[in-house]
Amino acid sequence: MSSALIDLFSDTKTRPTAAMRAAMANAEVGDERAGEDPTVRALEERGAVMLGKESAVYLPSGTMCNEIALAVHCRPGEAVICESGAHIVGFEAGGPGALAGVVLDPIPGSRGIFTAAQLTAHLRADNLQAPWQRLVSVENTTNLGGGAVWPLEELDAVARVAHEAGLATHMDGARLLNATVARGIGADEYARRYDSVWIDFSKGLGAPGGALLAGSRAFIREARRWQLRIGGAMRQSGIIAAACIYALDNNLPLLAVDHARARRLADGLAHLQGITIDAATVETNLVYFDIVTAAWNAKTLAEAALAQGVRLCPMGHRRMRAVTHLDIDDAGIERTLEVLKGLLASA
Ligand SMILES: *Cc1c(COP(=O)(O)O)cnc(C)c1O
Repeated sequence: MSSALIDLFSDTKTRPTAAMRAAMANAEVGDERAGEDPTVRALEERGAVMLGKESAVYLPSGTMCNEIALAVHCRPGEAVICESGAHIVGFEAGGPGALAGVVLDPIPGSRGIFTAAQLTAHLRADNLQAPWQRLVSVENTTNLGGGAVWPLEELDAVARVAHEAGLATHMDGARLLNATVARGIGADEYARRYDSVWIDFSKGLGAPGGALLAGSRAFIREARRWQLRIGGAMRQSGIIAAACIYALDNNLPLLAVDHARARRLADGLAHLQGITIDAATVETNLVYFDIVTAAWNAKTLAEAALAQGVRLCPMGHRRMRAVTHLDIDDAGIERTLEVLKGLLASA
């Protein structure tokens, strides 16, 4: 058993390996902002194909992909329909309001997913008093929804309803590749009816940063204007783009291993006293559970686990999240179960 921290807080906690760092060190680079970085250009071209879109732009973060997409699709005062627990609602520092000037118009879904019927019911007829509904944004997989994968037919149906009503469609694909690996459905297929889509390299893929936003040529041209406007254009960023290319070449299939470990963790947690988990709902690398014993809450249990080398992520008073990723191995999962079993039994 190693004494290293078992960091299940997030899949953003991975550190670049020696091989990834070597790829970064050897990257051919240029002035990205001037379109002269060959590594960034190669990544953008590959990403556009992977996501089934005409064009793609490499940006520093997934948050910037969301903010720019909202700003390109919408005018200030317009409304973005999304699920109530969406990342754009609670985790982007109010960016949709501050940058795009939009209002968020959430639908309460189930595990972060809403249905085409719910969207139909949520659409407003012409009403001068209400903000114009302009965009429908979905998250695949869902983060607060527990890493749930959208059924492809539901994604298609939601997009059809949106387009028929004259709304644009956007997909937050922070963990889209987890969905792809879990279901064997291509990222391009998931995104086929979405006007814009992005993937993150700093989550399960294990790169130190960067995300790719894809869409039509006209959409990406406008996105590049926003990239310049908010300072998202970099210079020799081929150094980090090389890590992203390395991740696509080497780490993508390993997401399946993360999923298997999340499942093992969930199955083990289901046997412990004092917590509840619906292990069957764990489809990818996010494991949420609820603390039902009065002896612990999320904060106290996380502190006690950390003292024994296991870091968890409290997500509210009684809700906890554990995330598997490249830097978590089988022994880390078993040790986590052992630590939690001990703590919950001691209460
Ligand atoms: C992490 C995350 C983001 C933001 O991505 P960053 O690269 O961390 O800025 C957006 N949406 C979802 C669903 C996420 O999980």
